[in-house]
Amino acid sequence: MKKIGFIGLGIMGSRMANNLQNNGYDLIVYNRTKEKAKNLLENGAEWAASPKEVGKKADILITMLSTPEIVKEIAIGEQGFLTSLKDNSIWLNCSTVNPSFTKEMDSVSKQFRVRYLDAPVAGTKAPAAKGELLFLVGGDKSSVNEITPLLNIMGKKTLHLGKVGKGASMKMLINQLLGQSMVAFAEAMVMGEAMALEKETLFNVLLNTPVVAPVISNLRDKLEHDNYEANFPLKWIQKDLHLSSISAYENSVATPNLNSTKELFAQAKQQGYGDLDFSAIYKFLNSKK
Ligand code: NAP
Repeated sequence: MKKIGFIGLGIMGSRMANNLQNNGYDLIVYNRTKEKAKNLLENGAEWAASPKEVGKKADILITMLSTPEIVKEIAIGEQGFLTSLKDNSIWLNCSTVNPSFTKEMDSVSKQFRVRYLDAPVAGTKAPAAKGELLFLVGGDKSSVNEITPLLNIMGKKTLHLGKVGKGASMKMLINQLLGQSMVAFAEAMVMGEAMALEKETLFNVLLNTPVVAPVISNLRDKLEHDNYEANFPLKWIQKDLHLSSISAYENSVATPNLNSTKELFAQAKQQGYGDLDFSAIYKFLNSKK
């Protein structure tokens, strides 16, 4: 069986790797914070001292890292894995990054004779744990077919959207809508409460109207109980909106709504909300009343 390298064992990566391991895959893993690999190591995964060490032994390498800057550092920095990956191996990048960065990584990978696949995911901590993510994939068909068994373990559905960059493009749109929907709902809630409508009534009525995105219903518990332990950290939606904004600029599209939403999350991050769940934008707006 092929050896799978996994780099980036945060909220999402640790759960995705765990599913691969539970389905019999042999893993070699690296994470900046080794502690987060504890369960995987106890269950037989091999620890690598650096990304480069992962590259030496992996047949397929998966990254689930925070930002384009970190992906680049881990791929082609001093201890990067691209120099050590075997010829013709596959790098499956599941991190949320922008399409132009994705294309850059694709061409760098080609220089190292590595096949790059663009595979961001939709779905958060619970779907990652249950193997129910949606994969948005860009890349050549035969490479996608090769990694489909892995995607089927980590996800419930894969959409092959075309060549490299198409996965990232679709992901930009999904998170743009997610951020905007969250802010629209949070603003309405804060205003409703200011007009002395009961909080419970607001939830009951608004969440049952078609004007609220279905995803918001999953966040009701967090908003009701002031529990903002991160499933999706606020700093990452702000990063994604920033990447979307770069993509809009690169494509000469005006996105005023996206940019005002991005700046609102930036303000919340500056006020110390970055490590809370992104739904804490409601708490942030409430604090401004
Ligand atoms: P996370 O828990 O913060 O994990 C981030 C990962 O990046 C960790 O492995 C972290 O290492 C690593 N990292 C960060 N800074 C680093 C640095 N300077 N050097 C080396 N490694 C570094 O985030 P996550 O929620 O799993 O998200 C991972 C990616 O998936 C992001 O691109 C995010 O936008 C995307 N995503 C997240 C969700 C979600 O709901 N959470 C959903 C879809 C997509 P440490 O463990 O050492 O910090």
